[in-house]
Amino acid sequence: MSDADLDAVHARMIAEAAERGARFAAVRACRHAPTDGCRCRKPRPGLLVSLCAHLKVPPADAVFVGDALSDLRAARGAGMPGALVLTGKGRASAAEVRRAGLATAGVFDDLRAFAVAEVGGG
Ligand SMILES: [Zn+2]
Repeated sequence: MSDADLDAVHARMIAEAAERGARFAAVRACRHAPTDGCRCRKPRPGLLVSLCAHLKVPPADAVFVGDALSDLRAARGAGMPGALVLTGKGRASAAEVRRAGLATAGVFDDLRAFAVAEVGGG
């Protein structure tokens, strides 16, 4: 995906969330290739660590929600609880994530279920 396409995805995501009364404090993405050896590409934790520093949130007080083993490995590497959602790659990843003990914040059907469990509402 080009940088312009990714920017468009983020803009649409932010706009659709705003229509529903939600907002993002920050949006980040690794824009490197797998061969670049950067610190921000999952399963490396660099993106999560820098985002926590930017938002002034201790990693242990945040939760990283993902659908892949690499997501939950990044969370562990950042010292952050990880939650697995069963959407996307989640169902295929679930057995391996559970075996590795990486879903320390739980397993949820989808992001809505996680949000309801974390902050209530519905
Ligand atoms: Zn990167």
